[in-house]
Amino acid sequence: MLVCLDPGHGGSDPGATFGTLYEKTLTLSLALALGRRLTDSYAVNVMYTRQDDRFVALSERARMANDARANFFLSIHINAGGGEGYEDYVYPGTEPTRTGRIRDILHDYIVHFLQKLGVDDRGKKEADFAVLRETAMDAALLEVLFIDSAKDRALLVSAEFQDQFAAAAAAGLADALRLPLKGGTPPTPAPTAPPPTSSPGPGVLYRVQVGAFHDRQRADALAAELRQKGYPAIVLPASDGGH
Ligand SMILES: [Zn+2]
Repeated sequence: MLVCLDPGHGGSDPGATFGTLYEKTLTLSLALALGRRLTDSYAVNVMYTRQDDRFVALSERARMANDARANFFLSIHINAGGGEGYEDYVYPGTEPTRTGRIRDILHDYIVHFLQKLGVDDRGKKEADFAVLRETAMDAALLEVLFIDSAKDRALLVSAEFQDQFAAAAAAGLADALRLPLKGGTPPTPAPTAPPPTSSPGPGVLYRVQVGAFHDRQRADALAAELRQKGYPAIVLPASDGGH
């Protein structure tokens, strides 16, 4: 599985600007943080359309991903123009396809994280962007907050925010693309099944629950701890989650 990360703009093209703050700088930081998060935790290969401050034409970005036969293309941008909040895009007409399904999952993870910070969800959108049109694989484009909103900008320039955003996006991509955790199959836990006489018939599933949290980050932290110990932990919404 190869994911191509595309930090928007670069070099002579700063993208949106606010004073001395450039979109091209923020997109690169976010893309590199996301790539680190992905390769640290998951069995996935990551490529970039740029890893430093250089100009790369839009068609060249798509061609790089196509030539490498990437499985997914993710373009990262910062919005501008007087709004605030987060939105993402797929190519027009692809929402009912696998592209849309991947975007929906990614969107849910990112918005779940951002809403805890009071960031608006501007929705799941479609647009005829060149990098979405010219890439041969599933592709999405993120507009991560507004550089000209003081509230959004305070988050965007924070290294902690950048890393937490990357963590949320990485978890979403891992779920959507079914990326295996790094290190292959965890060790098989010791057999704990009861003797056959008391064994239930096939089809009965027992879950082991070790915690329930209102704070998703605490749930994720516990799951990560369990995974480190070799248990294939997952985080699920509780059935009474609508508190
Ligand atoms: Zn942009």
